[in-house]
Amino acid sequence: MILLKTKEEIELIRDAGRLLGKTLAEVGRHIRPGVTTAFLDQIGEQFIRDNGAKPLCKGFEGFPSAFCISVNDVVVHGIPGDLFIKEGDNVSLDCVIDLNGYVADSAYTFTVGEVTPEMQRLLKVTREALFIGLDKCKAGNRVGDISHAVQMHCEKNGYSVVRELCGHGVGFKMHESPNVPNYGVPGTGPLLKEGMVIAVEPMVCMGSKNVKFSKEDGWTCRTRDGKPAAHFEHTVAITANGPDILTTFDFIENK
Ligand code: MG
Ligand code: MG
Repeated sequence: MILLKTKEEIELIRDAGRLLGKTLAEVGRHIRPGVTTAFLDQIGEQFIRDNGAKPLCKGFEGFPSAFCISVNDVVVHGIPGDLFIKEGDNVSLDCVIDLNGYVADSAYTFTVGEVTPEMQRLLKVTREALFIGLDKCKAGNRVGDISHAVQMHCEKNGYSVVRELCGHGVGFKMHESPNVPNYGVPGTGPLLKEGMVIAVEPMVCMGSKNVKFSKEDGWTCRTRDGKPAAHFEHTVAITANGPDILTTFDFIENK
């Protein structure tokens, strides 16, 4: 069942989204060669708790940390640990927080120092795919309209989108209905209605779309061909006039 949110509830999710935007920026400014992903997670978790919120990934189905930190060929669900960040990496931070009972979900892929033009282009196209998908978040459209728009933008640029994982409803809980795949057919899937809140999150591979999940930890999702991937995510409310984006990259990008 898809749970609709009132205007008041959407404002409370926006409060969580704003804090989450600040959180990603705070952790992002510590990303530099020589730091470990565990260090970044620790900084972020402290920031979330100091601001009166809860990191929802921590403890979710046994996930051990506040952030998913996914470097280079790790698409999503990287577990923070003793991996050292180095020049030329791409580092995606994905986090879900609960502030006063309302939930926001957002992800951003950062670059470390000088990265290759190929990597820059992957990140640019993935970020564009997110906003192209968000543009379809209007009452009367269908989930397939979002999915198709994301897929087309990535594929026409020579990239592929992951099939195994997708966006989702969010707001009261971390994962709600409906699923929001990054591939699909326009005019199909659940109807978008005013008051729906969803997470749109393209997971885009430079090479093939095939991924594998770590046998050791059960979480880490890597590209099979070892090529890099990128991930950007916003939480958005559906309105009659179009998307009302509740999370923000402003704190990251307007430094
Ligand atoms: Mg997320
Ligand atoms: Mg999500």
